[in-house]
Amino acid sequence: MGLDLLTIGQRPKGRTALAARWIVGYVDGRHKLLEQAEIVFEDDRVIHVGGPFDGPVVRRLDLGDVLVSPGFVDLDALSDLDTTLLTVENGPGWATGRVWPQSYVDRGPYEMYTPDELAFQKRYAFAQLLRHGITTALPIASLFYREWGETTAEFEAAAEAAADLGLRVWLGPAYRSGGMVCTAPGVLEPRFDEARGLRGLADAIDFASRIGGSHGGLVQAMLAPDRVETCTLELLKRTMAASRDMGLPVRLHMAQGKMERRTVQALHGTTGPQWLARHGLLNDRLIAPHAVEAEPEDLALYAQHNVTIAHCPLVYARDGEMLRSVRRCLDMGITIGMGTDTAPADMVLNMAVALMMGRAAEGNDRGLTSAEVFNAATIGGADALKRPDLGRLQAGSKADMAIFDMADSYFAPRIDPVQSLIFGASGRVTKAVFVDGRLSMRDGQVAGMDMAAARQQAQSQFDRLLLRYPERSWGQPTLGTMFPATYP
Ligand SMILES: [Zn+2]
Repeated sequence: MGLDLLTIGQRPKGRTALAARWIVGYVDGRHKLLEQAEIVFEDDRVIHVGGPFDGPVVRRLDLGDVLVSPGFVDLDALSDLDTTLLTVENGPGWATGRVWPQSYVDRGPYEMYTPDELAFQKRYAFAQLLRHGITTALPIASLFYREWGETTAEFEAAAEAAADLGLRVWLGPAYRSGGMVCTAPGVLEPRFDEARGLRGLADAIDFASRIGGSHGGLVQAMLAPDRVETCTLELLKRTMAASRDMGLPVRLHMAQGKMERRTVQALHGTTGPQWLARHGLLNDRLIAPHAVEAEPEDLALYAQHNVTIAHCPLVYARDGEMLRSVRRCLDMGITIGMGTDTAPADMVLNMAVALMMGRAAEGNDRGLTSAEVFNAATIGGADALKRPDLGRLQAGSKADMAIFDMADSYFAPRIDPVQSLIFGASGRVTKAVFVDGRLSMRDGQVAGMDMAAARQQAQSQFDRLLLRYPERSWGQPTLGTMFPATYP
């Protein structure tokens, strides 16, 4: 492929034309599939999408049988070594390290990873996102193995990692004013420390003011209060005030789980979205994963206040749960973006599951179209971030592109390339990714990282974490009890 002429990790100098069998261009306000087309970019911007470009170019690369697509926008981008994989077959959460037992709180929660390990897992996760065609990411990680919230130090490292690898990111350390504690088998109680939450917010605001727009605009800031049931009203009020003053998106998990529903009902007498609405805290800067537990009234409030849903169907489908339904949300005018939120951080697989679960939710094939799913993974996320120059390929947009191999031998027969991509259900056909005009990934490789060595490091780091699971599970069971083999 002609991309071999470029240097990985670098932005080619001067105008580059990419000729491809297919390009998803943006024409007259919508995606359009262009055949035998060309895209031309210079520095960080697209300057032409359409037929052969007749202006001067420094190089013209013929990519052949590929689909050039806008890079995916991941609103809940997996950024650690995924621990939810342990829970797919094993539960309940309080018995398998996902709710702190009283004994762990009494001994004093501590960081289960070193600062270097925290930095490494983000860098590794960012590389995995690029390998799956994701060009914009809002990282998400678990707080279960943390002392409390995420730290600005690790997010400074994350900003460096994004800049080194060439991934567009919105960064904000997760903060919270409380957490759930298991006080007896199956008994979970919320505990709050409001001052600690407000300190977390102050740190996050300080981080945002320093980091937002850095690295040539590649690194942007967001505010990331962890989940609605672990936030006090004061924390959310101040978060939204800062978001308004600084123009920052806010990501807050709510209407996402049954424990959350019960806890918020007990604390506030209603659902998360209705609690926020009561206090005027829903707005168009809010990105809310995952809405699988949303009431019709919650969805109506999302529509009324232009809240974006971050839809992550894969991680929920594994538990037999789904958003009910994407069709209904779209018909209500709710913006739907997508997130990976689990390993593999594969947005193509996620689109496939979105299509299948979206149709299952409606009980028929009119539940959702491939175009609607593809729009969510591109335009939906970009709109949530108020960035019309992302998620689309047209003159003036950012040169953020994913290139999918349509001649892959496992990918046969190919039909319409967008449909084939989604039905093929694997991002492993991502041949290359450009971000901000820079070749950030090619054939699975990213700049400055040996993926094979990184894979080994990631595994040993995860295995060390696993050894500490008994300390934060009720009754300190053995690993074998918590996570038995598929076939004992
Ligand atoms: Zn999530």
